[in-house]
Amino acid sequence: METKILNKSIGFKDNVLTYGDYSLCYIETNGALKIDHVEFFDAVILESRDADFARLIIKKIRSSFDINVYLKPIFLINHKETTDSYVNELHDGIIFSFDQIPEKINDIIHLQNLAKHLDHTPSNSFEIQIFKKALNFLYTREDRSLSPVVDPASFLSYSYPLLSVNFETYEESKVLDILEWAFHEDLIWPDYFDRVYLCNNCKTGRLSIRETCPSCQSSNLKQEDLIHHFPCGYIGPISDFKNKVDGSLNCPKCSKSIRHIGVDYDKPSVINQCLNCNNVFQDYIVKAKCTHCSHDTEVQYLIPKEINIYKLTKKGRLAPVTGIVTSGFEIGEEISGTVGFSTFSTMMHYEQQRMKSNPQLVSNYSVLYLENIFDILKTMGIIKEKALLSDLAQIIRDNITAADYITYQNPSLICICINDEKLVDAQILTQTVIKKLKELFHNNFNNFELTVKSKTQALVLTEKFDDRLREITKILVEEI
Ligand SMILES: [Zn+2]
Ligand SMILES: [Zn+2]
Ligand SMILES: [Zn+2]
Repeated sequence: METKILNKSIGFKDNVLTYGDYSLCYIETNGALKIDHVEFFDAVILESRDADFARLIIKKIRSSFDINVYLKPIFLINHKETTDSYVNELHDGIIFSFDQIPEKINDIIHLQNLAKHLDHTPSNSFEIQIFKKALNFLYTREDRSLSPVVDPASFLSYSYPLLSVNFETYEESKVLDILEWAFHEDLIWPDYFDRVYLCNNCKTGRLSIRETCPSCQSSNLKQEDLIHHFPCGYIGPISDFKNKVDGSLNCPKCSKSIRHIGVDYDKPSVINQCLNCNNVFQDYIVKAKCTHCSHDTEVQYLIPKEINIYKLTKKGRLAPVTGIVTSGFEIGEEISGTVGFSTFSTMMHYEQQRMKSNPQLVSNYSVLYLENIFDILKTMGIIKEKALLSDLAQIIRDNITAADYITYQNPSLICICINDEKLVDAQILTQTVIKKLKELFHNNFNNFELTVKSKTQALVLTEKFDDRLREITKILVEEI
């Protein structure tokens, strides 16, 4: 049993460091870790000179569902640079010696104090359970965004370590599903970062892309330039022109030698030959073979997925403390007086087509963000919630015409299409609607002050409606 005193206040015995009332668990490379023991310490000091071992321990701790384990501060010591995303993203600082522990005690206390605010309502779905963990972590680290990192270990080439740590690397697409869910629940807001393509069979992204023969699907192709000889008009692959002996070029039809590109010949295109079936063709087929499930598919049938940087919305920032309140049902056709969002978007597209053929027509749309509606919704069951959202739709309906339509993107985001009105009139109409919505909340919910942010725009032909709506919504949601 090794006992040594590093200085007068730091103690070290049996892999436990003590400083004042605080005790920290030291895990050296290839040391054992009983995960349940972590909760009895104030922090973990992890030796990270071996990235694989450090990854294993970090994954064990951060993927736990015990809040006293997964939130534990982890400090790295003897750190060696690595590309491992879990090691790089899921620690709380790097120290060079145990002497630095006193400096970290304040961080530990701060984090423990923040953790006292967290809501502990049991999660009633898998998505909530996973996402609440990530929100709790962000809250205690005073962070507000979930960013993708390039990750060679991930089957998508990207990971969101805080969420990904709960899954196997080949299950990474489940992380994207959870993020999509959180976006629809108005917990996060996306900023486009990149796009990846996934296998349409197993949804992983490790793909081998190659050009294949359209008749036999072999990738054993040879590509050649086509040559067009101006004086005689002959067109053929460059190999027909090549002298086998000295490699000089002569036309096989008129035997003249070929000299200057652009003067006596040009290369109009390329030609492919399949070395498997001898087929000669101009256009090959680009296919992607999945290295996980071996499924081979044309690239046009791959599943495109956006990789976004996600920022927490106001609801998302509050959720660690208040708990996650979900809409509980699919928004859209189910609420009387409204249409589903994709239908709405299609109708706006038709509206633009109508305006194209008749320049006299005008159309506007208003976006309403009911910022604090969740304060009311969280006190209701699903049935009552749906009834309330129908009532809101009805109030809006009473103020618009039969040619206008409404959609909910989520319970806090309403979009209204207002046709055949001048923009200024559509704006006035929108303000009237907002006034009535506020009255409803004030009269029915104990003088509750509904906060509504809105924007009314004319529909124009040059903009893609979905993109514009996204921008507007982002401005409304992020505005503090
Ligand atoms: Zn696959
Ligand atoms: Zn072939
Ligand atoms: Zn010729």
